[in-house]
Amino acid sequence: MDRDSQKKQIYIVGIGPGCEEQMTGQALAALERADVIVGYPVYLQLLGERFAGKEFLSTPMRQEAERCRLCFAEAQKGKNVALVCSGDAGIYGLASLMYELLEDYPDCALTVVAGITAANSGAAVLGAPINHDFCVISLSDLLTPWERIEARLRAAAQGDFVIVLYNPASHRRTEHLKRACDILLEYCAPEVVCGYVENIGREGTKAEVCSLAELREKSLNMFTTVFVGNSTTRVIDGKMVTGRGYQI
Ligand code: SAH
Repeated sequence: MDRDSQKKQIYIVGIGPGCEEQMTGQALAALERADVIVGYPVYLQLLGERFAGKEFLSTPMRQEAERCRLCFAEAQKGKNVALVCSGDAGIYGLASLMYELLEDYPDCALTVVAGITAANSGAAVLGAPINHDFCVISLSDLLTPWERIEARLRAAAQGDFVIVLYNPASHRRTEHLKRACDILLEYCAPEVVCGYVENIGREGTKAEVCSLAELREKSLNMFTTVFVGNSTTRVIDGKMVTGRGYQI
């Protein structure tokens, strides 16, 4: 964009689920170009040796606005800045907050670099669970009231969508997945095929296919993405598969 060419460019980079093989070429190029890489400490660790020579800056969890402002401040010093987010930066990441803060920094411009989000990296591990209409819902009520999350779960279940659940649990939120399953069970059969993947693209990847009734009993951690099938989702060769309706 011409109007931005004189401005200080900040790259907002989705680094995928965890390993370099799952980063896009565009993401790698943006990180190579950067003088400073800003991110949550865990994501900076995931970048590994390749970027060891870069300057790394971070702020703790819950200090996301400060982390974003740090990017603008570094860019204004004349540095090439890349803000990293896991997965895709525009899916429960910091891309929108960066745009919301942009008006305070009229000399800066933003470029978002797409990343592989947990929904599609996790889907590949499980087989083909989201190969028809699906929706993504976060169970975190940190920034969204629980009533709205419930309403979205109901709407998704009524629409017979495959549902991908992000943030199924945290240290504080241990009951959210159970509560979500109880709502879904009002509309869906207990046998509906579900699956979850923990640590996608990272050490200790673990995946399991189970029923909705079984999912309700699981205690999962925050590094897990959950998939709830629609009424046609099946298990084929141990994998979770949502068909598109081809006649074979
Ligand atoms: N921007 C990220 C999502 C951040 S929200 C993305 O696009 O993937 C954090 C949630 O994402 C986690 O609670 C989990 O549900 C999911 N997630 C992110 N990375 C993951 C991984 N490597 N393995 C499993 N789940 C992951």
